[in-house]
This record gives sequence, C-alpha cells and structure tokens, in this order.
Amino acid sequence: MSWYRDFIERLVACRRCPRLVAYRESVKPPPRFRGETYWAKPVPPWGDLGARLMIVGLAPAAHGGNRTGRMFTGDRSAQNLFAVLHSLGLSNKPYSLSRDDGVELRCVYITSAVKCAPPRNRPTAEEVRSCSPWLAEEISAVRPRVIVALGRVAWDAVIRTLGAPPTPFAHGAVLQAGAVKVYASYHPSPLNVGTRRVSLQQIAEVIRKAAAEAGCLP
Ligand code: SF4
Repeated sequence: MSWYRDFIERLVACRRCPRLVAYRESVKPPPRFRGETYWAKPVPPWGDLGARLMIVGLAPAAHGGNRTGRMFTGDRSAQNLFAVLHSLGLSNKPYSLSRDDGVELRCVYITSAVKCAPPRNRPTAEEVRSCSPWLAEEISAVRPRVIVALGRVAWDAVIRTLGAPPTPFAHGAVLQAGAVKVYASYHPSPLNVGTRRVSLQQIAEVIRKAAAEAGCLP
C-alpha cells in the first residue's frame, strides 16, 4: 500500500478531538446543498505526491471540504485558490468543486493544519497541536522544498512542526527551516478577499515566488 493510501485510511478514522468530531458530524446542509450527504470526517489532503510545493490551509470549511471530502474543494476559498493556481499553471482547471471534477495539481500538494472542520473556522490551540502529527507525517513523506502557509494559524503550525523558532506572521514573510523554505500568505477566504485585506493578485504573487523557488514554474 502506498504511503498516501495508508495515511488517508488512518486519517479518516481519527477521533482525537471530541469537539471537532461532534461538530463535523452535526453540520446540516443549508438550502443550496439540501439532499447532499456530507463527508463529515477528517478531510483528506491531495495533489501531486512528488510535489516540491506544499500549500497548507487552516482547516476544512463546514460546507466546503467537510461536505465534499477533499481539502479546498467546493467553497469560495477553493475558488479563489484555484483561480490563482490555474493562472500559474499549477492546476489544470480554475476551480475545485468535487472529488470527481477532474482537477489535477502539478507540483503541488494541498493540505491543512487541522483536518476537521472547526466551528466558526476557529480551532483551539490544543486542536491544532493534536492534529500536528498528521502534518508532520505529510511533510516527512512528501518532502516539499517549499511550503506556503495560508494564514497565521497555518504559519504557526508549519514552523512549529519544522522546529523553527516562533516568528510573527506577515503576508509575504519567508523563513528557512532546515531544508524547507516557508512562505506566509493571507488565507484566500471570501472574508479576507471581500474586505480587501488581501487581493488575489497579492496571494498569487506569494505563491508565484514560492513555486519559482520550488522549481515548479517553467
Ligand atoms: Fe484527528 Fe486532526 Fe480531526 Fe483532531 S482535527 S480529530 S487530530 S484529524
């Protein structure tokens, strides 16, 4: 069995965080998703298993990854991220809608600091720590050259997992942690983009630099 298949099998059985287990299993579809069966388990990462660039989000959204069963799939954060990835030639489609949408990532592996949807998109510090062994295993197995952390929680989780000293989050910050270079970007959430805290162009600029550093761009 490949590392990935074994990893997903173990991951989806995880029930380490009682609050998140209760929440992920209790999310009810709003009218636009009525009739859909939600994934309601830890949400699998995906992408190129030989990726040189790893993108780490915060956690699956209640009606995004927790519904579709794939990280950054089926919500507006996903559409923002995939508009960027496609513009850089890292995804074959400018969207990420469902597990069978035919999207393929090139040179990129997508995961999250926390694998279960948290209430109000806010995991506790203890939940982030509880989930970090999964992220550590992914980094060891995929061995990316470069990681982009989307948002402060992901940034803190990545640099702690890599054993680097705590470093303040700032959009565009760069840190060398052993053999891995880590870039910080604001999360492409509708809240961040809609309030103009960050534009998709600014997010694309960080991911473009990271992808270039990783050797993912032509
Ligand atoms: Fe397990 Fe992570 Fe989900 Fe907690 S958040 S139950 S550690 S997969």
